[in-house]
Amino acid sequence: MSRPVPMCPIRPGEPCTLCQAYVSGPEDCQTVRLVMEDDELRAELAVKRREYRERRASGRR
Ligand code: SF4
Repeated sequence: MSRPVPMCPIRPGEPCTLCQAYVSGPEDCQTVRLVMEDDELRAELAVKRREYRERRASGRR
């Protein structure tokens, strides 16, 4: 049985494409870590996630 594709924590609705070098997934992605450790970037991400959820709820993607 294949494993489910992990989602990218910083690109709402998109799977992890291993876009960063030497990464095996979101769990060891330095870009994700940098965003999560920065208050402003984390706040921006929260806005993006909310917008994504609202788009999905309204039927737009
Ligand atoms: S490597 Fe990191 S930034 Fe790239 S898609 Fe995966 S989790 Fe997101």
